[in-house]
Amino acid sequence: MKKFIIILFSFSLLLAYKVETKKWTTKDTFYGFLKKNSLPVSIYYNLPSQIKRKVKRIPVGETIFLLKNNNILKQALIPIDSKNQIQIINENGKYITKIVPIMYDTRKRYTEININNNLNYDIYNSTHSRTLTSKLIDIFNDKVNFRAIPKNTKIKILYEEKLRYGKIKDIKIIYASIKSKYYTYNAFLNPYDGRYYDEKARSLKGMFLPAPLKYKRISSKFGMRYHPILHKWRMHDGIDYVNRIGTPIHSVADGKIIYKGWIKGYGKTVKIKHKNGYITIYAHLKSWPRGIYNGKWVKQGQIIGYLGNTGLSTGPHLHFGVMKNGRWINPVKIKNSAKITLWGKKRKQFLSYINSLQKEYNIALK
Ligand SMILES: [Zn+2]
Repeated sequence: MKKFIIILFSFSLLLAYKVETKKWTTKDTFYGFLKKNSLPVSIYYNLPSQIKRKVKRIPVGETIFLLKNNNILKQALIPIDSKNQIQIINENGKYITKIVPIMYDTRKRYTEININNNLNYDIYNSTHSRTLTSKLIDIFNDKVNFRAIPKNTKIKILYEEKLRYGKIKDIKIIYASIKSKYYTYNAFLNPYDGRYYDEKARSLKGMFLPAPLKYKRISSKFGMRYHPILHKWRMHDGIDYVNRIGTPIHSVADGKIIYKGWIKGYGKTVKIKHKNGYITIYAHLKSWPRGIYNGKWVKQGQIIGYLGNTGLSTGPHLHFGVMKNGRWINPVKIKNSAKITLWGKKRKQFLSYINSLQKEYNIALK
């Protein structure tokens, strides 16, 4: 981006070109933008369908750049998502469109906070960030009970801010530690796989998420039950989680989708195969997101469907089942099993990375 601005400005000195910036508002549309600037609407029609979808949802508040000569638009840069922007170039009435990456400035910040009042309040007070607390909780959720943090708990956070025109667009925690009189936990973001590990290369999260969704309540546990539709005693081989239709459903672990489609009774369903002989099943879905298909590899936490009421179902809920070596098991039993530990080359790579990070930022782990 800097390069582009420099080029623009040197142009503007030489040829009296004018640079305008403008904020994208709720009233703006890409089509309207073309019309207003006397650009051919074929620019829109010739876009690939995937980009067409994106220009319909340009985020409000984004800054767009216009380069004009005697009020004729020569170039425009319009962000279409957090990573890319569309560039329109007018070469003597011939229009060229390109998708180019958005350049961000980044800066790292380090802070040490004593939690005296309340986690959210104290972190906000020290960093003025509204998202850091939830990111921190997400990292340590399996280890720390955030509803009962002991007094004088010390928190260290090294984080990276992604900025565009001075506005923070994203925040990423690179290292964090939480230390109370009862425990100390360290978490390093592994740049090679995007997960958090402690100083011994053990993942902070288990192989499985505690649940595949945010839920309001559990309406049926694993075990024998009187079936509400079939009016018979039957084995309920999963857990039923209740929430609103459309609630995102996440894969509880890395794995490969081995079934996506309709199963009698289950309705719209996804089945995922994981390491160590595990299979998870997600049933009664309303729909699936784009890019979810048979054979696709998914990451822990990835959205694989939306809560629904399809198949034999008495109301909106997710039926979640876990199979180990071909037998249904109680999903709550997998909660704290198998942590991921890095071994071999990946371990070496990670340990040498955190070693240099500790030196650079003077991080003491105890
Ligand atoms: Zn069920």
